[in-house]
Amino acid sequence: MGNSAGQLVIVSGPSGAGKTTLLQRVFQECPLPLVPSISATTRQPRPGEQEGVDYHFLSREEFARRRDAGDFLETCEVYGQGDWYGTLLSEVTPSLAAGKWVVLEIDVRGTKEVLLHYPQALTIFVQPGTLDELERRLRDRGTENAASLERRLAVARRELESADIYRYRVTNDTIDRAAREICDILSQANLQQAGEVTG
Ligand code: 5GP
Repeated sequence: MGNSAGQLVIVSGPSGAGKTTLLQRVFQECPLPLVPSISATTRQPRPGEQEGVDYHFLSREEFARRRDAGDFLETCEVYGQGDWYGTLLSEVTPSLAAGKWVVLEIDVRGTKEVLLHYPQALTIFVQPGTLDELERRLRDRGTENAASLERRLAVARRELESADIYRYRVTNDTIDRAAREICDILSQANLQQAGEVTG
């Protein structure tokens, strides 16, 4: 990050913890120059998902080509089923240089990789109330078949065990409260950063 005033923010949490909706609220309401990093993925778009908005949807060949070309900050095969996800450098470096706060919604392994390059990143773990609640949310969303649901729950259990590598943990009990908490965390970090710059 060097001298730029930009900041990298990493948000993780089990699939179904409501991260995406929660982050949308944070983007709407938090008075910081937040921009989302749009990840690349090889998984199929869900109904309603848009290219370049929710993800950059790439074929496996294109993903591999861009990985080999060094286009990614990190890549990860999230569910061990051949679907790849990754953060493109082009989503991160120009925005940081422009002083933006770039928000990455990535998994725990991706976070560890990014922290090697940006140890000062603000890391936030969004946790559901309970695993039962998580399972109910995933079922209600209706986007997963039984095998996919099981895989997501298995990854969720593993991710919950990794929550302690994150600097902050936020329970997504209600969106309003959790969004306010995330905004407070970021605003506090902004004040601290400003304090460090001015003396
Ligand atoms: P979904 O398929 O539900 O959109 O995302 C599944 C999981 O992939 C999420 O938990 C999310 O954190 C993770 N993910 C999304 N984009 C990236 C990325 O660019 N890198 C990594 N490492 N994980 C990602």
